[in-house]
Amino acid sequence: MCGIVGFLGKKEAAPILVEGLSKLEYRGYDSAGVAIINNNEIEIKKCKGRLKNLENKLEKEPVKGSIGIGHTRWATHGEPSDVNSHPHSNGKGTISVVHNGIIENYLKLREWLISKGYEFLSETDTEVIPNLVDYYYKGDLVDAVIKATGKMEGSYAIGVISTNEPDKLVAVRKDSPLIVGVGEGEYFIASDIPAVLNHTRNIYLLEDKEFVVMTKDGVELLTEDKEVVKKEIYHVTWNADAAEKGGCEDFTIKEIHEQPKALKDTMTSRIVLGEEIKLDKITLTKEQLEEVDRVYIVACGTAYHAGVVGKYVIEKLAKIPVEVDIASEFRYRDPLINEKSLLIVVSQSGETADTLAVLRDSKKKGARVLAMTNVVGSSVSREADDVLYTWAGPEIAVASTKAYITQLVAMYTFALHIATLKNTLKKEELEAIKAEMIELPGKVERILENKEEIQKFASKHYMEKDMFFLGRGLDYAVAMEASLKLKELTYIHSDAYAGGELKHGPIALIEKGTVVITSLTQRKLRDKMISNVKEVVTRGAKVMAIAYEGDTEVEKTMDSVIYIPETLDILAPVLAIIPLQLLAYYTAVQKGCDVDKPRNLAKSVTVE
Ligand code: GLU
Repeated sequence: MCGIVGFLGKKEAAPILVEGLSKLEYRGYDSAGVAIINNNEIEIKKCKGRLKNLENKLEKEPVKGSIGIGHTRWATHGEPSDVNSHPHSNGKGTISVVHNGIIENYLKLREWLISKGYEFLSETDTEVIPNLVDYYYKGDLVDAVIKATGKMEGSYAIGVISTNEPDKLVAVRKDSPLIVGVGEGEYFIASDIPAVLNHTRNIYLLEDKEFVVMTKDGVELLTEDKEVVKKEIYHVTWNADAAEKGGCEDFTIKEIHEQPKALKDTMTSRIVLGEEIKLDKITLTKEQLEEVDRVYIVACGTAYHAGVVGKYVIEKLAKIPVEVDIASEFRYRDPLINEKSLLIVVSQSGETADTLAVLRDSKKKGARVLAMTNVVGSSVSREADDVLYTWAGPEIAVASTKAYITQLVAMYTFALHIATLKNTLKKEELEAIKAEMIELPGKVERILENKEEIQKFASKHYMEKDMFFLGRGLDYAVAMEASLKLKELTYIHSDAYAGGELKHGPIALIEKGTVVITSLTQRKLRDKMISNVKEVVTRGAKVMAIAYEGDTEVEKTMDSVIYIPETLDILAPVLAIIPLQLLAYYTAVQKGCDVDKPRNLAKSVTVE
């Protein structure tokens, strides 16, 4: 998820592009760059790291010109480096492109373009775009962009400039955000509204595959067939601060709502019906996997909870014993790892100190290490043997939400991949799981639409001192994550227990009015879990349950029920956690907590 901007007008483009990028830096900060048309040549300045580096560069080497594009990158394909930074160009340097998204078929396109004599400098998927536009350029830039996008699969918002038509800027989006700003004789494109608010409040909100053609005479919107699209101007009334959060109150709720997209992105090009699972940064072979006698999943905090789900799922689908452990414990307990061990380390930032230490120790002992991380080029991604990226985009709120559910998807994807290598799953079973996975983003969307019940519950219970989360099987893993979210966001004490463990001690804590929350997504364990709930109800607890739609019978036992769409039991954590994230969020809001930056917490824990 990166940020793109573009400007066409009479003023100098460079400062306007940089200022726009500064409003989009929350979308990525691996590198920044601009391309500006100056004297019929495209001048590019780009460099790795924060926008500040680009600003320094532009101070020393200013670029003149009043048509340009800019980019701030959150790398997905190719590590953060100068050469992988955007804008990317064709070999002749006559066409430059900034891109937000993922071109799923870039490898195929790249090979095809190489066979036509094109050369590539970077590792990015993006670089195919200017070369495709070049290939299709026959005297009309708009035609060339339309033809090029016709070949591109995946998601993109792109801005294109060319010396062939030096007074034009062409842009288009598909599944990545892009808006057009309409000023007085000056026009803008941007991934998000805040980037243009200092210049105009008049915006076109674009639909997929609407082509933007800007010249000094104005902006035209065209369909793929070059028919003119008539569109109303949207006048922005909110302030810049709210705009940065996409109109949301804070980053936490924004990121909770970004979960359907994050899920979709993480599955994109990997989970396709009828096709093999593609994990390009995993080279583990069938033979190497046969040597593995145990998998260890090691992580901290929320990532550890994704690991607990991973253990259930890998054991179930791929029939390999899995241990899951907390990194700070694992590293000091002389774990019995050797060449036959496969370590999976999970870290959103890829810099978590304890997790990184485990990775290094395990490699020394001969184990193979796979990293699951959200940050391309992070320490764990560089040092691991294999990497599975979660494509959640930058997560700014301290309490993890979208990174967690994409870690779950990474676990499922990897489990299915090794189950395929080991042949432990029938083709129909595999396809059925994949089909259900593809449905998850839509189902999460539906859950997010129904927040009133949760808000009601939060406003009733925000002053509680304690809450308990119970679950069996994968619902226990959900309980652990839900309890952590509540603690982090609301400072209410909470604990998570396995349903069957209650009577071995914790039930002593239940008294009249104690709030207990449970989920009932594991069909085989549902009745047993209901019996455990009855044990606490008898002792006065007030119980809220998460249950599948249609399971209205549970209302007999529970005080309130939140329904979620049905899915396969193994995939249920992705859905069951959503109302519980909302519960923690709305409770925190009621209490007036700083949801984005809870006290005492840091986003990435790079110390022991
Ligand atoms: N896939 C492109 C890259 O890695 C764009 C990244 C993005 O939009 O997140 O450079």
